[in-house]
Amino acid sequence: MGEVVLSQLVKSYPGGVTAVRSIDLKIPDGAFAVLVGPSGCGKSTTLRMIAGLEEISSGTISIGGRVVNKLPPKDRDIAMVFQNYALYQHMTVYDNLAFGLRNRGENEQAIAEKIAQAAGILSIEPLLKRRPKQLSGGQQQRVALGRCIVRHPQVFLFDEPLSNLDAKLRAHMRIELKRLRERVPVTSVYVTHDQVEAMTLGDLVVIMKDGLVQQVGTPLEVYNTP
Ligand code: ADP
Ligand code: ADP
Repeated sequence: MGEVVLSQLVKSYPGGVTAVRSIDLKIPDGAFAVLVGPSGCGKSTTLRMIAGLEEISSGTISIGGRVVNKLPPKDRDIAMVFQNYALYQHMTVYDNLAFGLRNRGENEQAIAEKIAQAAGILSIEPLLKRRPKQLSGGQQQRVALGRCIVRHPQVFLFDEPLSNLDAKLRAHMRIELKRLRERVPVTSVYVTHDQVEAMTLGDLVVIMKDGLVQQVGTPLEVYNTP
């Protein structure tokens, strides 16, 4: 259902940088794909094109069997977690989680059920009445994940979500993400420059270099070959 397919995907920025030279990649429904590689290799550009935040130069992106090249982000059935998980500071956690659903006109009963479910998955029930300022970094990151889960999208997109956390919290959140992945098996595309994250989280590791895919495989295939 939520398969993501990139075909001959190219992105040249005005000014002449070709960030993505030609990518062919198929991420099966339910798979967790990690795009990994050095800074500047085109990971973030690729993710932003899938999200619809960046126009593509040529090629095709399909999500769940539907070509989305021309669709705005809101019509792509995706949810994205950014590095700077901007939560609304003046709202409670509950209202942060409810915000997008209310904008879509969902009724409060349905919203409450989705929030209860997501809060259970993330163990943030005791935090729902707090404001972001009253949360630790890890708790804020969990709320940011909650905002994605309540949307019930076909695809999750992650742009270096752990890179602003200290080493200890990052290790902790890696384990949390792994657990989330088992409980909510939604097709995911995760960008990182951290090989440990790629190995821990990916069932498909996509190694990028200079705007191209260099290698694709399971963590074992990709990291244990000479
Ligand atoms: P990564 O996420 O792997 O670090 P990016 O996709 O951010 O790589 O960047 C790939 C290349 O595209 C880099 O050379 C970068 O400088 C360039 N680039 C990224 N965003 C822009 C932009 N908005 N305008 C021009 N060049 C950009
Ligand atoms: P909010 O984004 O604050 O939850 P909306 O649901 O009204 O509020 O979103 C505004 C726009 O941004 C919509 O086009 C929506 O699809 C998009 N959007 C919101 N959150 C995300 C997200 N996590 N990932 C991708 N798109 C998002």
